[in-house]
Amino acid sequence: MKLSGLQRITEPFKSTERMPVLFLGHGSPMNAIEENEFVAGFRKVGSEVPRPQAVLVVSAHWETRGTQVTAMEHPQTIHDFGGFPKALFDVQYPAPGSPELAAETKRLVKSADVVLDHQWGLDHGAWSVVKHLYPKADVPVIQMSIDYSLSPAQHYALAKEIASLRDKGVLIIGSGNMVHNLGMVAWDKLNADSYGYDWALEAREKMNRFILNDDHASLVNYQAQGRAFQLAIPSAEHYLPLLYTLALKNADERVTLFNDKPLAGSLTMTSVKIDRA
Ligand code: ZN
Repeated sequence: MKLSGLQRITEPFKSTERMPVLFLGHGSPMNAIEENEFVAGFRKVGSEVPRPQAVLVVSAHWETRGTQVTAMEHPQTIHDFGGFPKALFDVQYPAPGSPELAAETKRLVKSADVVLDHQWGLDHGAWSVVKHLYPKADVPVIQMSIDYSLSPAQHYALAKEIASLRDKGVLIIGSGNMVHNLGMVAWDKLNADSYGYDWALEAREKMNRFILNDDHASLVNYQAQGRAFQLAIPSAEHYLPLLYTLALKNADERVTLFNDKPLAGSLTMTSVKIDRA
């Protein structure tokens, strides 16, 4: 056995320098196999962050009653969408899981009895973006589900309970889209550069300002932010991963936005990197 493998077993969570935290606007599943500026942005941020010992993804596409974490050795690649080309269904992302990280995450969360899941795997909210950060699928990946019974403030508080994973080499990624109204997508503008409806642009501008000003209270209280936010967030699942990311920010850290563009009228790809200045 190579020394690195031995270390992984004997010291799965040795202390490291604090890992950055990301929110990735994942957009269309086609980003998994297309080449575009957003994919380039994912790749660039992957090259900027220290190589993690493991990745924990909170994906918009895994909602459960109660919080769960994937705990299998070999998570399956889930093709949780329809109407896309066969090439997308052919994609496999065979990153290993990490039962150790799942158990550690369960141990850290005191506010809930986190369930160790052996059924799920990696949904496209995870693999369509993580594959651009770690194309060799050689970094273990687990997912943590979104408990649909929790309030936004409870999600924000839950995220803080796993903050110490950042000091153990774990890259935590929220994967969703801040502005995400599929019912209003301008399908004829899918390939237009930076096309957003007025309300989407307004929501994006306000969200970005709140993020950059560390005004997390306004973002947690998104349902009170008026019509633009209501249209931008018709359901919470693509927005809540942002709250997990922001909750993990320390006062001495900086926020960088990237892939900050509206798309097809009713989506934004805006993504966030939090790290030490
Ligand atoms: Zn999605």
